Amino acid sequence: MEKTLIINPPSPFLLDEKVFPNLAPLFVASAMLRDGYNVEILDLSGRKDYKEEIGKRALEYDVFAFTGTSSQLPFNLEILGELKRINPSSFSVIGGPHASVVSSLRRKMKSQFGEGPDLEKKLLEYDPNFSPLEKFDLIIDGEGEVAYKEIFRGGEKWREGGIVHDLNSFPIPDRGLINFENYHYEIDGLKATSIITQRGCPFTCYFCSGRDTDIYRKIRLDGFLRVNSPERVLEEMDYLHENFGIEAFMWYDDEINLHNEKIKDLTKLLQKRPYKHRGFIKSELFVRWPEQAELLKKAGFVELCTGAESGSNEILKKFVRKHTTRETNKEAVKLAQKNGMRFKAFTIIGHPYEKYEDVMLTKDWILEAHPDDFDVTIHQPYPGAPAYDNAVKNNQIEGYEWAYEGGLFFNKTDYSKHTTFYKGVPGEYVSTVRTPSLSAKEIVKLREEIDFELREKFGLRQNKRMDEVSYGGQTKK
Ligand code: SF4
Repeated sequence: MEKTLIINPPSPFLLDEKVFPNLAPLFVASAMLRDGYNVEILDLSGRKDYKEEIGKRALEYDVFAFTGTSSQLPFNLEILGELKRINPSSFSVIGGPHASVVSSLRRKMKSQFGEGPDLEKKLLEYDPNFSPLEKFDLIIDGEGEVAYKEIFRGGEKWREGGIVHDLNSFPIPDRGLINFENYHYEIDGLKATSIITQRGCPFTCYFCSGRDTDIYRKIRLDGFLRVNSPERVLEEMDYLHENFGIEAFMWYDDEINLHNEKIKDLTKLLQKRPYKHRGFIKSELFVRWPEQAELLKKAGFVELCTGAESGSNEILKKFVRKHTTRETNKEAVKLAQKNGMRFKAFTIIGHPYEKYEDVMLTKDWILEAHPDDFDVTIHQPYPGAPAYDNAVKNNQIEGYEWAYEGGLFFNKTDYSKHTTFYKGVPGEYVSTVRTPSLSAKEIVKLREEIDFELREKFGLRQNKRMDEVSYGGQTKK
């Protein structure tokens, strides 16, 4: 039988790579093992010697399956280069978020350009992110648990692998397939890790990648709600507790409160355990169904997070389109805090048409709502996001080639070459976007000033690289 190696590339641009394991390779490998395939995972997260590591294995496997986000692409390409240098006839395949969203854009552009002898040339000229993926022997989009089957079928180089309907029919991702104990995360001093219990988000925030793809958009398929049953969620938690001593969970679902009925059943079951939890909510739904606050608190949630995104109602309505307002977002913070839960709000600078006054509205919102923690980041257009996929060529501002809705200017990042935009450390932020009235430099300056000033005011620690801070049981994201 063919031997497959799933490769999880490093992410040296992160503050700390060893916080949460990437669950995607575990989902895929667990499904493949259940189906009788011979598969292993090479987890290169946090490894500086990733080229040596692939070198040692380059002749041992038949299939080398890469996964990764857009930011991880340069490392995947380096690893692929080393693999092909040692074993030129090795078979390489790439899937995961970056491959999926770029495939989706490529399909869209293919149908827009229409068939013709120069179609491939037109595609390559249109977007810098199509050609780097062509270095892999096969590019698959979709969810790995079902999409992996394309590896063993013949067909075109770019392939659609489909998505999961019934999440409950797949095994719990086996953390024993990697060195799980190397990861460290705590919630309120308790040993914690991440879980994903549902797929898809139906909203269309302009900056959020995957809005046109089934994987990231579809919450329901063929009569199945793409969520794990409450029993299955608890089973995974118990497995993590019994095997690894995990006592707290970071829910990496896009929003845990999307389905009100699910929350009721789930929180009832969670009350049977002393586990603690942290997760993202959709603030508008949280405020619409305020009983969720008490249920989540009783279930062990100690912290809720939300993407508040902006303090400007105009930006929230016109572009973010989450059906929320600054007032609703503030109400969500207060509702959580009133029920004894902390709240972390994530905001962005670099929205379309954003002015200095809009940025100040975001700053005022943070001050007014006073979440327990906050994050101010700079918008980076990723393939798969409406801002990127629907941008058009525009020469209004010198040095910028693309514009979204005529109010956000940027050059498409070639993700095979750059990770500089992804820093997360004060002093190292860059902006690849600008608006009609805010230059990229001004966006960075405003971010730094607001972040520093409000952290001082709220008594929060300033962000540093994780090798500069000790782990004092603090909650990190
Ligand atoms: S930002 Fe959140 S709410 Fe908006 S589309 Fe993405 S996952 Fe959904």
